[in-house]
Amino acid sequence: MKLRTKLKIAFFIMAALPVLLGALAVTFIVRSEVGRLRSAYGEDFRLSDMYSSGAVLGKITDSTFEEVKAQADTAPDVFYDKAYIEGLNKKVRDKLSYLVVIQNGVISYNSSPYSESQLEQQLPDGSAGESSGRMYNGGGYQTIVKYTIFGQDLSKGGIYLITPLKQTLPEFKHLVIQVVLIIIMIIAFTSFMLYLWLNRSIIRPIDRLRLGTQNIRDGNLDFEIRPKSRDELGDLCKDFEEMRYRLNKSEEDKKKSDAEEKELIRNISHDLKTPLTAIKGYVEGLRDGIADTPEKQQKYILTIANKVEDMDRLIDELTLFSRLDTNRIPYEFVKINVKDYFDDCVDEIELDLEAMDIVLKYRFHGGDDMYTMADPNQLKRVINNIVSNSVKYRRPNVTCNIGIEVFDEGDYIHVVMSDNGKGIKMKDLPRIFDRFYRTDESRTSPQTGSGIGLAIVKKIIDDHKGRIWVDSTEGEGTTFHINLLRYKEGMQLTLPDNQVKSRGRKKKQG
Ligand code: ADP
Repeated sequence: MKLRTKLKIAFFIMAALPVLLGALAVTFIVRSEVGRLRSAYGEDFRLSDMYSSGAVLGKITDSTFEEVKAQADTAPDVFYDKAYIEGLNKKVRDKLSYLVVIQNGVISYNSSPYSESQLEQQLPDGSAGESSGRMYNGGGYQTIVKYTIFGQDLSKGGIYLITPLKQTLPEFKHLVIQVVLIIIMIIAFTSFMLYLWLNRSIIRPIDRLRLGTQNIRDGNLDFEIRPKSRDELGDLCKDFEEMRYRLNKSEEDKKKSDAEEKELIRNISHDLKTPLTAIKGYVEGLRDGIADTPEKQQKYILTIANKVEDMDRLIDELTLFSRLDTNRIPYEFVKINVKDYFDDCVDEIELDLEAMDIVLKYRFHGGDDMYTMADPNQLKRVINNIVSNSVKYRRPNVTCNIGIEVFDEGDYIHVVMSDNGKGIKMKDLPRIFDRFYRTDESRTSPQTGSGIGLAIVKKIIDDHKGRIWVDSTEGEGTTFHINLLRYKEGMQLTLPDNQVKSRGRKKKQG
């Protein structure tokens, strides 16, 4: 949910929730106050009475008045008995009311704060002809008088319960306090909930982002910010995490390429130094006259020439690899007939191999009309590199057999090049296509090598959109598999982007 929508909902809830909770709480409190009033005053109070204290005060003496009325009907004389009237007055005072008794037209008992003349204005004189009832005195008095008049002369004797309306029931005070408290609690609760929500969905993600930026500022990219919500801040966290990941990756790539560069320089200097040291030794041998016979001198010079050739080859390979690696090799992709091409290749290498007593078995399992798109020179380089490795890593005292087979696999042309040489250890297999990777065995063997031959092979096959992989069993032999795309009408092999850009023009294809 969007943060904006969330905020809208949150503020709506924050506005509606206190009202709802307040209404519920007040209803509950008022209901319970009604119950308290009922048990305190013994009257049948209703919820509707609670809207005004006048209604409650008007009802508060109802049952007492009923008793008084009953007494007045049967034996009104008791109202002139001092002890009885005191007892009755006590009951009436508990209900926030006063008692007035008139005997023979004279006030015989008055517990109210009103003077005789004030009472005269408030009390009914029986002129209405009603012996009992209730009346409301407005003006300055604001009282309710419940009365019952006894005897024939309605002005001569009666009993009056006076309840002033300008007073507050303790229960009402209690009610107001409770309502105020509950409203404060509800406001505090909803504010706290709002704070928690804002904290969780806004403040905390911002804090995490701030911590993240501090980490990046301090150069620490090894942390993770997980988006915890699906709003704008969640998106921001996601983008931030993406940025951190990329920064971290480019930092790691940089470290890796720095390390590779160092290793490259170390390898190059080592591989160049080895023949140079040997050359130096032979030159010194010649200079110091150690090679004292023409045969020895000839041998020394031949060795020097071989070493120079090794160096030359190494430098050639390095140059080639660096040009391939930076996509500076101009591929000349053409449509080639696979059978003709492999037949020619095999013819070329067969003679050299024969001269070394190496048996080459070539089989072509396909038709004459099988085509692929390739750079013939670079593909030849691939075949030569693999074959020369088979020769280089053959087993001593075992006739070296090399096999080249080509299969038609529908969309692919599958080239299988195998030998019965030393084989490659399981642990080395995944790395033999890495540049400068040489197995421990080949490093310690007298065979020269740079460890870039197979890296070049892989790069060329990759640039042909093909695939290369290897199977090998140590002590038994090695098999290289290459899949090349079969030519289809309209097929084009595009050059890597940077090659096109760096050369500023599109290379000729096919
Ligand atoms: P190098 O210049 O060392 O031959 P390559 O990149 O051509 O470098 O090969 C990498 C390593 O793979 C070699 O050092 C060798 O240990 C191993 N290797 C490659 N081809 C063969 C093979 N046909 N038989 C055994 N080992 C091989």
